Amino acid sequence: MKNDKRSVDPAAQQVFNVMDSQGYDNAWSRLEKQKPQCGYGELGVCCKICVMGPCRIDPFGGEPSRGVCGADADTIVARNVLRMIAVGASAHSDHGRRPAILLREVAEGKNTDYKITDAEKLKGVAQKIGVYDSGDSILEMAGKVAEVALDCFSRQKEGCIPFADAYLPKKRQERFEKLEKMFTDEMGMTIGVLPRNIDREAVDILQRTHFGTDHDPLSLLMQGVRCSLSDGWGGSLIATELQDILFGTPTVKSVQANLGVIDEDYVNIVVSGHEPILSAKIVEIAMSKAMKEYAVSKGAKGVNVVGMCCTGNEILMRQGVSIAGNELHQELAVMTGAVEAVVVDVQCIFPSLADLSKCFHTQFISTSDQAKFPGAKHIQFVEENADRIAEDVIRSAVDVFPQRNKQKVHIPKTKSNAIVGFSVEEILKALGGTPQPLIDAIAGGSIKGVVGVVGCNNVKITQDSYHLSLTSELLKRDILVIGTGCWAIAAAKAGFMNMDILSETSPNLRGVCESLGIPPVLHMGSCVDCSRMLVLAGALADTLGVDVDQLPLVGSAPEWTTEKAVSIGTYFVASGIPVHLWPAPPVLGSATVTKMLTDDINGLLGAAFFVEGDPVAAADKMEEMIIEKRKALGLS
Ligand code: SF4
Ligand code: SF4
Repeated sequence: MKNDKRSVDPAAQQVFNVMDSQGYDNAWSRLEKQKPQCGYGELGVCCKICVMGPCRIDPFGGEPSRGVCGADADTIVARNVLRMIAVGASAHSDHGRRPAILLREVAEGKNTDYKITDAEKLKGVAQKIGVYDSGDSILEMAGKVAEVALDCFSRQKEGCIPFADAYLPKKRQERFEKLEKMFTDEMGMTIGVLPRNIDREAVDILQRTHFGTDHDPLSLLMQGVRCSLSDGWGGSLIATELQDILFGTPTVKSVQANLGVIDEDYVNIVVSGHEPILSAKIVEIAMSKAMKEYAVSKGAKGVNVVGMCCTGNEILMRQGVSIAGNELHQELAVMTGAVEAVVVDVQCIFPSLADLSKCFHTQFISTSDQAKFPGAKHIQFVEENADRIAEDVIRSAVDVFPQRNKQKVHIPKTKSNAIVGFSVEEILKALGGTPQPLIDAIAGGSIKGVVGVVGCNNVKITQDSYHLSLTSELLKRDILVIGTGCWAIAAAKAGFMNMDILSETSPNLRGVCESLGIPPVLHMGSCVDCSRMLVLAGALADTLGVDVDQLPLVGSAPEWTTEKAVSIGTYFVASGIPVHLWPAPPVLGSATVTKMLTDDINGLLGAAFFVEGDPVAAADKMEEMIIEKRKALGLS
């Protein structure tokens, strides 16, 4: 495969030359070996839920039309999607559980390696969820917030979890209540929408997709909606809010992005995965005099910690740490030959790193009790010994610096400046403290609408190509682009997050951004920080006294890969924001499920999914949707 078909990133293309000449195993070559990939799987019509199967349905209407138990394509496709949502929501929500437990430990004085960094945010969250008491100390308040967060995972009663209850925009919550009533009154069915308990909604999916249980596509998909809401307005939201309290709410700052942030003179540590609990510590300890002296004693100038994927986004947003790349850069970083350690926590980590690292002096270090990799070095992370463990990890990386083979070092020079750190708090600050100037800009037409882009790299798509083409198209149409995850890293690498991009932005949007001093492409954080976009949408809706589905907002996941993206897309739609996807999700084997997700769900939630493989056509469609919403609001 030619370099420019694998990635549009010039840094990646430079590494491909080394990769091909040395024959390093990589995601693109492994994809080739997988071809042709299974059509049944792509359409979602295979089932291996019980061992009378696996069963496959003929997607062209022939035989077999049913599995051994009698399940048809509609049931099988819906069950498969539902299980993707359960896994994605669980990944985000289990991430959220960790800062909740850590906050409780800090509040009780059981963990002194961490502290409350943002007391103002803590007060704000305490007020929002109704546990604020001006007489409480900061630690007492932290304890109460942690208990409410943990209660969202464990409560055994009906009714909405407290975080979603506090944060959901008013009209959306009313809509969910009406919907639940409509299912009971008009259809005689109990179908819940508001999440009762974060863990329970995922377990409910595992129960109802067990052999011989729920077979009705509507009933199945609505539980998917409920579970996704327990992620977006529950687990992910808790992760974001509590991490802000513990590690600081992101502020606007300038960083650098791409493989060029790897520094030949330093011990380079790439931190990757999703959680900031260990990585924030590594960043902190790496800056100490002791670690610098230790690195110097081994011949380096110091320790250079850089980020990758969403762990990278977490420390980039809060600590201003430069980022080496997104999902498909993880193997390429090792191939630069100048990385002493890749330190990982959970999610989106290629197990191939274990073998690839052995071609170099690189240590592949796993740290999580939940994510182990044969061939990796495991340094077990436990929060109560965070300082010591972070130091162990750094020393381990420093120790191999003398083994670096200079002949194998090929670091691309490519890197871009990026302005990042747009938490909702920072956006409101740029707007002068209220969403009103943004509402005025939207009402006046300087900003036609807002598109939130999320998600991954997918090796089936030229890396970053869809992210960048779509973003560029939207900027030409007075559409503000916000987003998270690997999209945000793609945009940062390509220079879309600095003020220079304003020269390629349509005049009205350019004018607004210049007056506010912000780029037209805003980095809002990691995957769990998609919750920041929900909170922003909710603030706009509540200020205007409308429901979210009336606002000119669209979501997109143009190079999505993971089950987490399915959960994110579903909670965006459930929250009233239409969502574009590419590639197509594995649902096309059922016309019924496809119609439900792309059409019928609109009638229930005011938003639906659409699939489009061409970035210009996708931008056209998004603009069309935005214009329609504007018209309905009486805006020109
Ligand atoms: S649950 Fe039904 S369709 Fe699925 S594998 Fe078992 S028999 Fe086949
Ligand atoms: S955007 Fe996707 S690939 Fe990237 S870190 Fe998040 S889930 Fe993983």
